[in-house]
Amino acid sequence: MDIFYPLCLKTSWSMYHKHIGEINMGTIYDGLEEIGPHFELSETHKMVRQSVREFAEKEIAPYVKEWDQAHEFHKPILKKMAEQGILGISLPVKYGGGGLDYISLAIACEELERIDTSMRVILSVHNGLCSSTIFQWGNKEQKEKYLPKLATGEVIGTFGLTEPAAGSDPAGIKSRCRKEGDEWVINGEKMWISYTNSSDVFLIFAYEEDVKHKGMRAFIVERAFGGVTTGNIEHKMGVRAGETGWIHLDEVRVPSENLLGEPEEGFKIAMSSLDWGRYTVGAGAVGGAKASLEASVAYANERETFGKKIGQHQFIQGMIADMVADIEAAELLVWKAGWVKNQGKINTRETSLSKWYATNAAVRCADRAIQIHGAYGFCDDYPVARYYRNVRGATIYEGSNEIQKIIQARYALGYFKDKPLRCMPPKYDPEEWMNPDTDKY
Ligand SMILES: Cc1cc2nc3c(=O)[nH]c(=O)nc-3n(C[C@H](O)[C@H](O)[C@H](O)COP(=O)(O)OP(=O)(O)OC[C@H]3O[C@@H](n4cnc5c(N)ncnc54)[C@H](O)[C@@H]3O)c2cc1C
Repeated sequence: MDIFYPLCLKTSWSMYHKHIGEINMGTIYDGLEEIGPHFELSETHKMVRQSVREFAEKEIAPYVKEWDQAHEFHKPILKKMAEQGILGISLPVKYGGGGLDYISLAIACEELERIDTSMRVILSVHNGLCSSTIFQWGNKEQKEKYLPKLATGEVIGTFGLTEPAAGSDPAGIKSRCRKEGDEWVINGEKMWISYTNSSDVFLIFAYEEDVKHKGMRAFIVERAFGGVTTGNIEHKMGVRAGETGWIHLDEVRVPSENLLGEPEEGFKIAMSSLDWGRYTVGAGAVGGAKASLEASVAYANERETFGKKIGQHQFIQGMIADMVADIEAAELLVWKAGWVKNQGKINTRETSLSKWYATNAAVRCADRAIQIHGAYGFCDDYPVARYYRNVRGATIYEGSNEIQKIIQARYALGYFKDKPLRCMPPKYDPEEWMNPDTDKY
């Protein structure tokens, strides 16, 4: 059953528009709409939450402990996510997507990570880093060729920037490319890339040989081009129910039409793609934090010490209250970043802030959840140890939280200023996004 079909295609345009029109973080209140901002989700957002939650609780929750313990990615879940419309949720209907806005994308990430981080990571690399970047920077032919297949899950996409010797400092990547006639030839190694084995399409960044300035190029690489080998990294601390791996690129021949953006825009594309990825990571972290709170509340209402439920001890109440505050603040920061994204504005500062705060909050919440569970939190009988192992990684990937801190400081000090991009993040327009024949995008 396609959960977004009723929302996107069957719902009348005016009704749909009404729902999305309420997004400015909320429902329209009697005569108060002018005052804003609003903090109530629209009916559409609530439906997205309910649909993805039902899907995750039915298709993922019963099995995820087993997948985590086996360090196994259960690949059929991709097909199920595709059938639900989750893999293209925030792409226009014209490109096979759900036509929903970026706050809907955040809610889907939150609901998936509430069950397991590995499943949200799929959205981060496939929807966030790969599809959304092609949507922002791709030309008409690239969008028409790749987005419908990505949105419907016919192909899976990922994002290869990090290398064995370059993570926080992507300008230091060693992958190289050279132009030969109508083709580019790429050689290099990518490391710590999510879902490499399951992906068919890779956004790859490499420097053009002998070009000193603005030499980074961005490519849409298909596995089918040949010369692409992938593998998994074993024995990870978390995201064990998902794939994290490496890519070896050996004389990979890429047609010149698969260069993304203008040649000298490679580094800009890499940086702006992180605004998509980080957003999904921050949103997911909210769901991870909520899972820790839910498990803690259940346990605190069940476990007794000194003749009463542990929830009645003030130290436990303090940890629960800290979690509530962390979650609410993190969610508001994510929604604010989504609200800026919906307007098609550069959102690097807002997205980075939400990712930084939400991922740290998720780690704090998982840590408290383990403490509340006592010894039982220290084993796999309860899910909280898995939550901790899972959310910990998000303070490292998509730019470590030290890098996010630097970004915030540089904006505050006036060292960073947003400049318009040749391809701005696509502004959400409900009517156009629902119009299968639009020529606006
Ligand atoms: C589960 C997982 C999935 C991932 N998925 C992807 C993916 O799909 N695609 C992709 O391209 N990458 C992916 N990554 C890689 C990730 O983005 C990098 O690990 C991350 O950018 C950090 O790089 P690094 O590990 O090389 O750490 P380093 O850059 O070596 O940093 C090491 C430490 O130094 C700190 N540091 C670095 N520079 C500074 C500075 N200037 N000031 C202060 N502190 C600094 C860092 O914060 C960190 O604490 C993934 C990683 C993980 C763990």
